[in-house]
Amino acid sequence: DVRLRFAPSPTGYLHVGGARTALFNWLLARKEGGKFILRIEDTDVARSTQESVDAILDGMRWLGLDWDEGPFYQSDNFPLYKEFVEKLLAAGKAYKCYCTAEELEAKRERALQEGRKPKYDGTCRELAGEQPDKPYVVRFRAPQEGVTAFDDLIKGRISFNNEELDDLIIQRSDGTPTYNFVVVVDDASMGITTVIRGDDHVNNTPRQILLYEALGCPVPRFAHVPMILGADKTRLSKRHGATSVMAYRDMGFLPEAMVNYLVRLGWSYGDEEIFSRDELVEKFSIENVGRSAGVFNPDKLLWLNAHYIKTGDPIRLAGLLLPFLAERGVDPTAGPDLAAVVKTLQERARTMLELADGAVFYYRQEFDYDEQAAAKFLKPEVATLYEALLAKLAALPHFSHDGIEVAFKEFCEEQGIKMGQIGPPVRIALCGGTTSPSIYEVMEVLGEAETRRRLERALA
Ligand code: GLU
Repeated sequence: DVRLRFAPSPTGYLHVGGARTALFNWLLARKEGGKFILRIEDTDVARSTQESVDAILDGMRWLGLDWDEGPFYQSDNFPLYKEFVEKLLAAGKAYKCYCTAEELEAKRERALQEGRKPKYDGTCRELAGEQPDKPYVVRFRAPQEGVTAFDDLIKGRISFNNEELDDLIIQRSDGTPTYNFVVVVDDASMGITTVIRGDDHVNNTPRQILLYEALGCPVPRFAHVPMILGADKTRLSKRHGATSVMAYRDMGFLPEAMVNYLVRLGWSYGDEEIFSRDELVEKFSIENVGRSAGVFNPDKLLWLNAHYIKTGDPIRLAGLLLPFLAERGVDPTAGPDLAAVVKTLQERARTMLELADGAVFYYRQEFDYDEQAAAKFLKPEVATLYEALLAKLAALPHFSHDGIEVAFKEFCEEQGIKMGQIGPPVRIALCGGTTSPSIYEVMEVLGEAETRRRLERALA
């Protein structure tokens, strides 16, 4: 069975690029009935923080990317890494290097001056015996010739000349292991079968493959996902807008819109744009991930979000709306049923912020009228119309959308007026302005008593 992992470094929030990588891994694991493992790469103790771990886990949970194993922390694994270093040393596949930082720097300078690519010159490769009191790093004894190649599931065949690969440091002089080494030890010991990660890691892959081979472990398959660009075709960054997944939640995006958007940013399935989570699990494949970088398009994300709000379950949307209403000082228990309110707004709202803004008037007892609209429509002569309308509505057996609509039509005929004469003043009385859902819907949701109260208030 396939075993996949997402291996973030906890040095910041969950970035949209990282979220997409996590999503691809999750989808493949779910599609193949395999396992999805979460591993926190926190060996860089100085830069790793618990807040960042929490932020990443929150982002994963929000997107619904549940993991089957973990989270594992590399910082818990130092003894294991040590054991593997010892193993390589004992087998002669790694060696202690006593070259000092100054010596290495001088060699580097010389290489650069002579126009050579700097590379460790192998001074300590064949040293006989130990130098007990000197500090050392442990280097991997990399092959000096031949080619290391792999068939990337997205990019195709990629090969490197071993000559270009350095004798990688696998353990620093302070005894801590290095990134490329711990990734291999973990992926091997966790039995990872497929590594899906950003293509900024392509150059690490041949080094890691050589380490797998030296450790006698099977080499996983690799899929390097192209990066995400901003509209100006440079790497997506804060200059292009929010890059944190959770910032999108706070801006009123739904996780299903985010998931749908992220997956299409690199993967395609004919011309289809809208995919439920189940459809994604069924249809996703690495083969359909494109080789070129995806360009982040906020308008398309907004379009998808509008789609998911429009088609969303009102009860669920009502639940998700609560924090946004709280921010606006609105207590939805003191007013009409929130799911009913959502139903009147979800057709037009593109974000949860718009939905929240649209819902506020339902719950405000006192609100100001839009000045211009009030000046134009709340004329004294409207008073008699309101009174007549209230009488008409009072006669309704059911205060429901359809009944109210019929009552309005009859009312206009009886009074010899047009909807345009009664609609706007009623709308202002109920909502405070001239934009709102249909007044029949609003009235039904507010209920008869509140509708009456608001119309009477406008007259006062
Ligand atoms: N920790 C690495 C990163 O955040 C991921 C390494 C990997 O996926 O192999 O870029």
